[in-house]
Amino acid sequence: MGVFEAVAGEGHEQILYGHDPVSGLRTIVAIHSTALGPALGGTRFFPYESEEEALQDVLRLSKGMTYKAAAAGLDLGGGKAVIIGDPRKDKSERLFRAYGRIVDSLQGRYITAEDVGTTTVDMDVVRRETRWALGNSVALGGAGDPSPITARGLLAATRAVAEKLWGDQNLAGRRFAIQGVGKVGGAFAQLLVEARAEVIATDAYPPALDEAVETLGVKPVEPDEIFSVDCDILSPCALGASLNEVTIPRLACAAVVGSANNQLATEDDAKRIADRGILYAPDFVVNAGGLINVYDELTGYSRTRALHRVDGIYDATMKILETADRLGVNPNEAAVRVADDRIRDIGDLRRFRRSGDDRN
Ligand code: NAD
Repeated sequence: MGVFEAVAGEGHEQILYGHDPVSGLRTIVAIHSTALGPALGGTRFFPYESEEEALQDVLRLSKGMTYKAAAAGLDLGGGKAVIIGDPRKDKSERLFRAYGRIVDSLQGRYITAEDVGTTTVDMDVVRRETRWALGNSVALGGAGDPSPITARGLLAATRAVAEKLWGDQNLAGRRFAIQGVGKVGGAFAQLLVEARAEVIATDAYPPALDEAVETLGVKPVEPDEIFSVDCDILSPCALGASLNEVTIPRLACAAVVGSANNQLATEDDAKRIADRGILYAPDFVVNAGGLINVYDELTGYSRTRALHRVDGIYDATMKILETADRLGVNPNEAAVRVADDRIRDIGDLRRFRRSGDDRN
């Protein structure tokens, strides 16, 4: 597929290819939409096998950010960047500063942050070349690691789901199964234990699971058992595409609420889950805490304000579940519609030019 064809297909606004021969930087920045504001999304550093694979990933991820920001009620569009390379071997100051100059050339149409393969420390280096890099370390006035905040947003979403299902948001005595007790899953497990819920967990990396067992008292199961654990809520907090035609028939939960991005392997899987009578809280609604947290850096980071906004994920989730009921569609489809409506309605306001507006 040609680049123009790929871009037009999903309605992207702009793709920028950047290269620095000295550091070996090869990057693709994708701006999906700036209808609601600047396109914010992290930088993924990954050893893609081909440029085609990197392009497909950045197109998919940047579109996802448009929907995540819109559903969270933020004044942000959607964008993402990928750097092709091995994050364990190919990182250098020169590479990140060259990347920062490429981001800077977009003059704030795209704002970057950390993602898989990049860290707050990397963003601090990018920041030396552009003000359009967030996710900086606390010492530099940034928000630091977003994972505990993402977990807090997940808890807010879980309470909304509990209220919807059982008319009671108290989680004491509820049974959870968590796939992946890494940065978010581990912090979420801790919040659940504090809420006196019962937690069963797994992880493909045994030391991570051992730590959760020792420090939190979670009950361990093998990675391939987690989808059939009899529980109230299953929480996928590992990698994407975990909900698919193999795992969905095995689910023994009332609802799915997890942090992993792109949990549904295909769009049909939202219907498959609904057909089983299981409530699926859309990933891009419930895991928006990290995005909300870096968004706050734009106006000078205030943790109090960020936490207040993240707690709003309760209302955002409830709105999606109620919209789904009202329209008779599954929650994933409802979330897409709510986001589309907001992009259209609020994006449309741009036709009113404010004094001093130098854009559009
Ligand atoms: P992480 O790498 O710290 O944790 C993921 C954990 O999942 C690891 O411990 C890993 O060993 C485990 N894992 C991987 N594959 C597994 C499998 N098949 N079975 C069981 N365990 C498996 O990552 P994280 O930052 O905690 O992010 C988790 C997910 O949440 C990712 O999909 C990420 O994109 C998404 N997310 C994270 C944030 C954030 O703030 N960190 C924000 C939004 C979304």
